[in-house]
Amino acid sequence: MHQAVIKPLVLSSLFWLANSYEAFAQTPATTEPLVEQAIVEPADAAENPTPTQIDTVVPVENTGTAMSDELESSAEPNLMNIDAEPVPSALTILNQTVQPGKSAVLKWEVEATFVDASAPVPVLVVNGTKPGPTLCLTAAVHGDELNGIEIVRRVVHEINPEKLTGAVIGVPIVNLQGFQRANRYLPDRRDLNRYFPGRIKGSYASRIAHSFFSEIITHCDYLVDLHTGSLSRTNLPQIRANLMIPEVAALAEKMGSIVVLQSKGAPGTLRRAATEAGIPAVTLEAGAPNNLQKDAVESGVKSVLSAMDSLGLTAPKPFWKRSEEPVFYQSTWIRARKGGILFSKVELGDTVKKGSVLGLLSDPVSNKTTRIVAPIEGRVIGMALNQVMYPGFAAYHIGLKSSIVEAAQPQELLPEEPSTENGGPDIANNTSSESPIPEAEEVGSDEEEFDADESTSIEEMELPTVDADD
Ligand SMILES: [Zn+2]
Repeated sequence: MHQAVIKPLVLSSLFWLANSYEAFAQTPATTEPLVEQAIVEPADAAENPTPTQIDTVVPVENTGTAMSDELESSAEPNLMNIDAEPVPSALTILNQTVQPGKSAVLKWEVEATFVDASAPVPVLVVNGTKPGPTLCLTAAVHGDELNGIEIVRRVVHEINPEKLTGAVIGVPIVNLQGFQRANRYLPDRRDLNRYFPGRIKGSYASRIAHSFFSEIITHCDYLVDLHTGSLSRTNLPQIRANLMIPEVAALAEKMGSIVVLQSKGAPGTLRRAATEAGIPAVTLEAGAPNNLQKDAVESGVKSVLSAMDSLGLTAPKPFWKRSEEPVFYQSTWIRARKGGILFSKVELGDTVKKGSVLGLLSDPVSNKTTRIVAPIEGRVIGMALNQVMYPGFAAYHIGLKSSIVEAAQPQELLPEEPSTENGGPDIANNTSSESPIPEAEEVGSDEEEFDADESTSIEEMELPTVDADD
């Protein structure tokens, strides 16, 4: 039933997305004209004697003050502007130069193994007319996570480069190979988000990660990496950030009214690698994989726009208040103690009390039903979709509001002893007292091992832990 519903959804999503990009590439945007006619020049004419064809540029009406034209046409210094703001600079990335006030669709291409093995990945670049930070938005590092793709599309296409300070680089589908197969992983079943920043001579995943990191991420001053829950789990829109790092905490605070959780990020995640390279980065989780969810997308868009506003890239929008602030949470996962078919009694965002029934696990053979009960009060910030569960499977992510200081150093939220109350002969209390998986267990990067003996690595499948949605 679940699969039968999901499959057509995925297929129609892929079809829709393909059409969407076709439309972006060939016709003006239907909403606000977002992309100024791009002047994209090879960065090094000697190395690129033939102009690179940019076939995915959308002309738009000129709503600005033609500041960039002035700059381009004036060969002599304009003395009137000596005391003015610094001259905006052209943005050179992927061997292309995007002038101030212009937008372009560039292509990132990993060294191909054979013809057609990998298609170029579109990279949307909007360079503003005033100097400022470069914000990067990346989505579908996991190829089955569709909400982030739509968030990038909505945000980047609405930007008017004439009114932008700094630049925005959006990569809607980082893992294009996974996306084309509606799959989280790369074709060799590795999780790309465990290989950043990558190595030039590492495994296949590591090389892709290295190319992406060195060609694109190194241009970013801030990074928001967009994800969804993994493997049949869904997340209330939320930020994951290493709040121990002041610059990262500052970025998290700019994400508007949204749940924020402390997370260092597993080694090899794009977020952690960027942060370690000095680029403040957060993950924005919203919704479930293999789905396009309106509410999750809208929340994500609002959060990113809020960051752009607070970082000074755009002027504050009249329709939301700058004062909207994130809410910090500590959290814990509640696991199924027994196997069965899960039917949830709660929804994402629900507030639950200690003892509230979160869901029922039905055993189809014995016809016994087990309750999963909240061991603490809090809010449902993540949960498994209805599905067959096995003992130990993470079912509900419960968050408890806290200060940013408490959130940065989360305490154990669960009681020492599990509740022993029993609901009757056929209903056993399922309250779990297991500790949440400590961050150290998020480790999914066995790159050393792979590099030592790559021939044995291909069969290895990395199973993400619950805390490692990103
Ligand atoms: Zn993900």
